[in-house]
Amino acid sequence: MIKSVICDMDGVIYRGKQLIPGATDFVQRLLSTNTPFLFLTNNAEQTPLDLRLKLESLGIHGLTEENFITAAMATAMFLKAQKESATAYVIGGGGLMSELYKVGFSLSESNPDYVVVAKSTSFNFDQLKKAVRMIDAGAKFIGTNPDMIDPVEGGNEPAAGTILAAIAAATGKKPYIVGKPNALMMTLATRKLGTHPDNAVMIGDRMDTDIVGGMEAGMKTALVLSGVTTPEIMAHFPYKPDYVFNNVGEIDPQAL
Ligand SMILES: [Mg+2]
Repeated sequence: MIKSVICDMDGVIYRGKQLIPGATDFVQRLLSTNTPFLFLTNNAEQTPLDLRLKLESLGIHGLTEENFITAAMATAMFLKAQKESATAYVIGGGGLMSELYKVGFSLSESNPDYVVVAKSTSFNFDQLKKAVRMIDAGAKFIGTNPDMIDPVEGGNEPAAGTILAAIAAATGKKPYIVGKPNALMMTLATRKLGTHPDNAVMIGDRMDTDIVGGMEAGMKTALVLSGVTTPEIMAHFPYKPDYVFNNVGEIDPQAL
């Protein structure tokens, strides 16, 4: 039976604007063996088109928008399953809003069903106040992903988790967060591929998101050492991946 692949991107395919050695070979191997696959990211700002273009600019060709799942898409899939054609107040970028539109949600500032929060580089006090009052009035509090910071050129910048923390502090309510490490995101990805978790492998560079999320979703897991995790860091976790590779160039999914 052919194995399906769900693969993280940052630290696996690229680091910042640099391609990781072996990534091009790996993608070609996925395509030439007809391996069902999805690239999965907690990034909720970029659309699948943005991501495809980014990979093309790094020299990876042959992908379509169907090959990507973002935390914004997963959040929209989750919310649609919870409630048809609901209303939401959104803090986040165009990527998130377009995914919510696609599943039939409408944006509203008057008693919305949900307050949905992603990273927003234009976040301000007025949005914070609105979100707090809506949640106080009963709107359900949803986050796309828990990442506190994003490493960018010149240092770290606050990400979705930081904005969620501000709203949580003001409301006393905890958000439900869809992105990694929530195994829900991996489950939505395997469903999108039409495969069973038993038959899928999660590839990533982080023990506390990719590997734990894949494991809890019932998938095989493969850690690559091309990102943030060293063998020493890996050894500190109470769980381990099924496989460890230096980089994705070493991985032949159909041989796992
Ligand atoms: Mg990563």
